[in-house]
Amino acid sequence: MSQRWTGEHIPEFIEPLRVKPGSKVTLAKDFDPGYKAGFLKKADGEELLQFGTGLLAEYQDRLAAQDTWGMLVCLQALDAGGKDGTIRHVMSGVNPQGVHVSGFKVPSAEELDHDYLWRYAQRLPARGDIGIFNRSHYEEVLVVRVHPEILERQQLPPSTRGEGIWKRRYREINEWERFQVENGFKVVKLFLNLSKEEQRKRFLKRVDLPEKNWKFSKNDAKERRYWDDYQHAFSEMLSHTSTEWAPWYVIPADHKWFARICVSAILAHTLMEIDPHYPSVDEAKLRDLAETKVLLEAEAPDGAAPDPFQADIVAKAEKEEARKERKRARKAKKSGKA
Ligand code: AMP
Ligand code: MG
Repeated sequence: MSQRWTGEHIPEFIEPLRVKPGSKVTLAKDFDPGYKAGFLKKADGEELLQFGTGLLAEYQDRLAAQDTWGMLVCLQALDAGGKDGTIRHVMSGVNPQGVHVSGFKVPSAEELDHDYLWRYAQRLPARGDIGIFNRSHYEEVLVVRVHPEILERQQLPPSTRGEGIWKRRYREINEWERFQVENGFKVVKLFLNLSKEEQRKRFLKRVDLPEKNWKFSKNDAKERRYWDDYQHAFSEMLSHTSTEWAPWYVIPADHKWFARICVSAILAHTLMEIDPHYPSVDEAKLRDLAETKVLLEAEAPDGAAPDPFQADIVAKAEKEEARKERKRARKAKKSGKA
């Protein structure tokens, strides 16, 4: 695949990854962890990744300047799905001041003493910011669903623990996200979809390479025993919580480079939908700027241009015009000879 990427290509590229609201998802049947959208190898996707990260940097700058909207990115995956690496690569060009990454692990005693969304609410992004949840409130319908003993620890009133708890949590989460979106915070949800065999390979890499050992816990390997339960919990989550206002995207994660392309394209797409603008300045401010310019120009030392910045722009434009003129002259000479 070879083409020049523009913003117009993005919706079509990410469409197959989006979970249609209301659709019933069976992960194994509906999404292939090895999908590559026709790209053969990493080098084919390099241009698109650069394009996506570049767009992201530009739009994040505008998002911060406008200070009206925020964006929450929820990243979910099984162990070794590539969450950390994806964040590192995709956000590489973005101003770190505007991005906050929050990881969520086993909840503390204080966290367990509150409602299950409490700790996530405390980490929501401010206007102008991008908040990334490395694991998110969705753990509350994933690991907690797969391991009922975790639910036991949540100290819920007995009347709320019954059969209907998961449907109720899906509804509550959907409503909570709707509240965020309606108040100016876009919610983007990304599930890095890894195959069981690729997870096995990545675990072995963590065992084999000393510098990766710290990333591996015996518990991760044990958790593989619950693979089917997790696939079911993810399928249910995707079926019930992909909404018009906060859709899920299933990212094929067996090829890390492809997953990164997808994530950067989806985040860029979401920011393009917000379409943040630099604030425009009013008449009074323009007058202030003009006055300041006069004062600063008057301070130019001997021999210096009054406004070196503007002088530079003018010089560059003149150089470019001269280059074009020479080109026109060469062309004219050539056609005169012919
Ligand atoms: P890691 O992200 O690899 O450092 O692991 C964090 C661990 O915390 C994982 O095993 C998660 O399943 C677990 N965890 C995250 N959120 C919750 C939660 N709400 N309840 C229980 N365990 C959780
Ligand atoms: Mg882990």
